[in-house]
Amino acid sequence: MPEKTLINSHSRKTSVFLTALMAFLLAFLILGGNRDNPRMMAAGAVYLVFLTVITYLIFRTGMVGKYRSIFFATYAVGFSLSFIPMLIETRGSMFLSGEEILSLSAPLCHLTLPMIAIPAVVYGFLIFPTKLFSEMGFFPMLYLWLGATLFLGRGWCSWGCFYGGVDEFFSKLLPKKIVSSKNFNYTLRFFPYAFLLVIVLWAFIALEPVYCTWFCPFKAITEFIKPTNWLMWVQTGIFVSIFLGLVVVLPLLMKRRTQCGLFCPFGAFQAVIGQVNPYRVKIDGEKCTKCNTCVQQCPTFSLTEEAVSKGKSCISCTRCGKCMDVCPRGAIQYSLIGVPLRNSEKGGGFFGEVFRPDTLFIFGALLFGGVLSSGMVSTSLLRITNLAVNGSFLLK
Ligand code: SF4
Ligand code: SF4
Repeated sequence: MPEKTLINSHSRKTSVFLTALMAFLLAFLILGGNRDNPRMMAAGAVYLVFLTVITYLIFRTGMVGKYRSIFFATYAVGFSLSFIPMLIETRGSMFLSGEEILSLSAPLCHLTLPMIAIPAVVYGFLIFPTKLFSEMGFFPMLYLWLGATLFLGRGWCSWGCFYGGVDEFFSKLLPKKIVSSKNFNYTLRFFPYAFLLVIVLWAFIALEPVYCTWFCPFKAITEFIKPTNWLMWVQTGIFVSIFLGLVVVLPLLMKRRTQCGLFCPFGAFQAVIGQVNPYRVKIDGEKCTKCNTCVQQCPTFSLTEEAVSKGKSCISCTRCGKCMDVCPRGAIQYSLIGVPLRNSEKGGGFFGEVFRPDTLFIFGALLFGGVLSSGMVSTSLLRITNLAVNGSFLLK
């Protein structure tokens, strides 16, 4: 077997430069927003150090999948440890209150966007009980999604989504897979597209965010309406089962992101709309030996033997970098539409490395994810500190 080539690695000089630039931008964006809050500033500084180390390790070693995964799982844990206690502080439980629904002030998340878009255009109102301009309302989420789509495409699902790191976290917990996916039926990866179509049409007919009502597994780590009748208990049973099955148990056993790859309708939506983003993951046919290591390891089932033969990942690719870590020939790389593939990780000098497609994508994605996650991770650090010092996870 030829020696493994890390196609995304950079020289020490370029890695130091990119890390320093990232640290400067993150310091400006993360710490600048917390000037009036010294505790948040201190927690933000700790997270800044973490992101700076991750940046250096990604660029220097080229192990994008490995170090991105550490960042992304940290983000997911930070989200859960900040959001759930925040709900308990403000409303006493994870239950979405009747007042919030009646006053149209429930927090909106990106998963609702495909469902609420058509009724909003046709009827001129939102079918989700949220405000247009509040902090976690419609327009802030719309702008976040637009930015994520332009910067990341479906890379959102491995660099920006505060839910995506949850099944990634569980997929990393065991050292080896217990259930092999060798005989996996790859037709299943089309399920999210069919499911997307069903929930969009269902939401338009019922004028209700049906995915939130019936299926969303992440209600288990955010909020949900208190079940008060048998129908609501059925809905609760469904979302808890999906969470346990697709976000916890199957990722643990298969070491794959089964929720993101085989279920999430927003992931399917982002895969299609995300084609406007100019970055792609391509395979150099001259280097590839068709060993299929990448097919076996892709967390979201976005590589098949057919895709490898065609020299590109499927549109569901979340640009996570795992396939590039594991390919023994260094045959897989981030590319920009219209730019030829690179032959080697070396060459091009300092400016050649800085302006490589992989450098540009990784830098933009990490900056985006770093800024987006900073408030959540910093708050969770404060809560952990509070637990250690005062014995309470709550800040109030
Ligand atoms: S691209 Fe995939 S199939 Fe080709 S050599 Fe790399 S790991 Fe093997
Ligand atoms: S094809 Fe590669 S980059 Fe895309 S999701 Fe799979 S492992 Fe990640």
